[in-house]
Amino acid sequence: MSIIRRVLLGASGNAWLRERATRTPFVMRSVSRFMPGERIDDAIDAARREQTHGIGAILTHLGENLKTAAEADQVTRHYLEVLDRIDAAGLDAQISIKPTQLGLDLDPELCYRNLQRLLDRSGERHRVLWMDMESAAYVDATLALFRRARERSPLVGVALQAYLYRTERDLEALLPLGVTIRLVKGAYLESPRIAYPKKADVDENYYRLACRILDEPGHGGATLLHIATHDSTLIDRLAEHIDTRHVPASAYEYAMLYGIRQPLQQRLAASGRRVRVLISYGEYWFPWYMRRLAERPANLLFVFKNVLSAR
Ligand SMILES: Cc1cc2nc3c(=O)[nH]c(=O)nc-3n(C[C@H](O)[C@H](O)[C@H](O)COP(=O)(O)OP(=O)(O)OC[C@H]3O[C@@H](n4cnc5c(N)ncnc54)[C@H](O)[C@@H]3O)c2cc1C
Repeated sequence: MSIIRRVLLGASGNAWLRERATRTPFVMRSVSRFMPGERIDDAIDAARREQTHGIGAILTHLGENLKTAAEADQVTRHYLEVLDRIDAAGLDAQISIKPTQLGLDLDPELCYRNLQRLLDRSGERHRVLWMDMESAAYVDATLALFRRARERSPLVGVALQAYLYRTERDLEALLPLGVTIRLVKGAYLESPRIAYPKKADVDENYYRLACRILDEPGHGGATLLHIATHDSTLIDRLAEHIDTRHVPASAYEYAMLYGIRQPLQQRLAASGRRVRVLISYGEYWFPWYMRRLAERPANLLFVFKNVLSAR
């Protein structure tokens, strides 16, 4: 892992930096590249625009590691409102939550109760509810929550991270349930004891895991893969696998982040593939933004350009 990536990921948890950065105009201008705005209305407007290109949306309110049950309740109520709003707006949109946003650090039972409220509402609306995967310390608890949620409703999906050695094992344990999986490379700073340190190994593991899901005989609606990457080499390799094995279109979707590789998103959608874009919004964007910079340190150039234009 490069030093710059390590520094940026380390900085993502720094409260002092967060305080200052979120008040700095050039940082805020740089963030707008990845986020349509801080308000839910900004996210809904962006989802509406995506829909005109035949692209669905996943909305996520930024925030993690909440400290009180009242905050977790507030987030849950916010998402209930979002589900009502996307329904009223007739949008092809889903929501994605972070377990620590619903109170996982405080009490897994409290977190599950909040999750259940959202699951019931999104189920009534026939929408998949997504669970993000946070850092490695949360994988066991997140998968335990997911299993309980999956017993309650098939309309729940979870992210798995290809950089973790354990993911192959986790996937094998989940596949017999007929599951909805978002496969990502992984965005956190993890030790080489538990995660592949080399990008080439992460990419290869991603390909293997994605093929394993796509080849799962339990299709017919039971298993859904979100190919959540902007990596065009992987996307092309997987498209070849999909076409050769005649994987049904109902078994997979592409998922990318708002503002990243938009032409690729639109090209895939125009060619008839199902695509969703994950739209983030909210005031607590600093750690999430640092992870976006770390994914592509060349993004720092963009930040510097904004510094210069601010002079
Ligand atoms: C829909 C979705 C949901 C996600 N959910 C989670 C989650 O729950 N947990 C988690 O740990 N991670 C999550 N991630 C992030 C993921 O783990 C990766 O960190 C991120 O997607 C970058 O990896 P990549 O697969 O695009 O491949 P990379 O090899 O990093 O990138 C491939 C190419 O994509 C472009 N690109 C990638 N990132 C950026 C960027 N930030 N800015 C500009 N260009 C970029 C570049 O052209 C790059 O060459 C999610 C990603 C997506 C798309």
